[in-house]
Amino acid sequence: MPKAAETILEIDLNALGHNYRYLTSKLERNTKVLAVVKAFGYGSDASAIAEELVDLGAAYLAVAYANEGVSLRDTEIEIPILVLHPLPANFNIILNRCLEPSIYSRTMLKKFIAFAEKNKQKLYPIHLKFNTGLNRLGFRKEDIPFIVETLSKTQSVKVQSILSHLAASEDENERNFTLQQINSFRNISEKLIEKLGYRPLLHTVNTSGIINYPEAQFDMVRTGIGLYGFGNDPEENKNLKPVSTLKTVISQIHKIEAGETVGYNMGFKAEKPVRTATLPIGHADGISRAFGNGKGWVTINGQKAPIVGNVCMDMIMVDVTNIECIDGDEVVVFGENPSVEELSGAINTIPYELLTAVSQRVKRIVYRK
Ligand SMILES: *Cc1c(COP(=O)(O)O)cnc(C)c1O
Repeated sequence: MPKAAETILEIDLNALGHNYRYLTSKLERNTKVLAVVKAFGYGSDASAIAEELVDLGAAYLAVAYANEGVSLRDTEIEIPILVLHPLPANFNIILNRCLEPSIYSRTMLKKFIAFAEKNKQKLYPIHLKFNTGLNRLGFRKEDIPFIVETLSKTQSVKVQSILSHLAASEDENERNFTLQQINSFRNISEKLIEKLGYRPLLHTVNTSGIINYPEAQFDMVRTGIGLYGFGNDPEENKNLKPVSTLKTVISQIHKIEAGETVGYNMGFKAEKPVRTATLPIGHADGISRAFGNGKGWVTINGQKAPIVGNVCMDMIMVDVTNIECIDGDEVVVFGENPSVEELSGAINTIPYELLTAVSQRVKRIVYRK
């Protein structure tokens, strides 16, 4: 790779392949993979990631919202795409672009069937989502008779899969809760299958579920964060490779005298002479303001340069007093060092948030080693 000359997000497709193979090594031969590419592929590049995942053998893709599925169809992704959180306002584009809705309530079921009938659909694939403890989206067990009754009156839709979502699959302390969720999912699915008279695909585990509850892989697993290189556990992270590396460059170096301040609102006041570097990346690019005043840091020529003062919209200043560097030198914001786990820990958040924060202003560079 040439050195970064501006702010870029490098996306390593080899790392994606490595992660895919690692995660699928935990699966039975026939278990399908649903790869989650919502939120621009966890802040990377959904289309590039999706194309690679199709080549790697993913059976399904999932997005959160319908317009994310439209972008994938626009780049000629042809495999089934599950929309995890469709809204009635988007039924039209869901149908037009052959996206498959996750149906999670009685209202949604009625509305989608009415819509499918109006549009003369036959056996349009839908997915039934059950709430087994997360209490976010999903039918309850008590809804089964209603679902069966409603479905028995129409030929317009067909249940392609039954799913649920685990609340704490990464947390060993909540093992009992998770086992109860899995059990409840199994019971609900069995009841529903008996009444439907056919067997849709069953799926409930996410990345941490694949790792911690391989016995609950059913017919398919849904993996997001693991594909991008994070296992929600320091040991698992060693087996995975980060796909995204955020880099930038030094725009200008300043010598600050004792008594001078740096940045908005005098966020930093020099007690002794320091040298700072100004970088073309700010909170509008995904560097949370919480990283200001030394909470966050970048790596320049292998050394740690803490953020000085407040994070601006388009820039940050970092302390390079003890680092040999000049204008134009490459800066690593996150990747191997600092890692996304380390940095997210520094402001009490999680890799999911840091990764998805990288804004669309940042140029994506997709590569293969
Ligand atoms: C985002 C999401 C996933 C992926 O979870 P990871 O922890 O990133 O593997 C799976 N299922 C649902 C319903 C989701 O919303």
